[in-house]
Amino acid sequence: MSLAQLEPTWRAGAACQGATAEHFFPPPTTETRDERTAREAAARELCNGCAVRDACLEYALYVQEPYGIWGGLTEAERRRLRYTPVH
Ligand code: SF4
Repeated sequence: MSLAQLEPTWRAGAACQGATAEHFFPPPTTETRDERTAREAAARELCNGCAVRDACLEYALYVQEPYGIWGGLTEAERRRLRYTPVH
């Protein structure tokens, strides 16, 4: 599947439209562990109710999006998914 096929269709249904990016991406300065936990929880709450969550996650995995929360998963969680061996 190409990027052109993946991208345009799902963004219109995103629950995070209008939400501030600060929930989904770390701040330019440092954040404490508690601040990160709270930020990620706020983002996941939006993602959990998002109608296009699967498409969003599929897109982020496809483009190997290196930053932020996409489809309810952090970059570290997506990396683990990508590198899970298939048997
Ligand atoms: S799953 Fe989360 S990051 Fe993706 S479009 Fe929905 S609210 Fe936004």
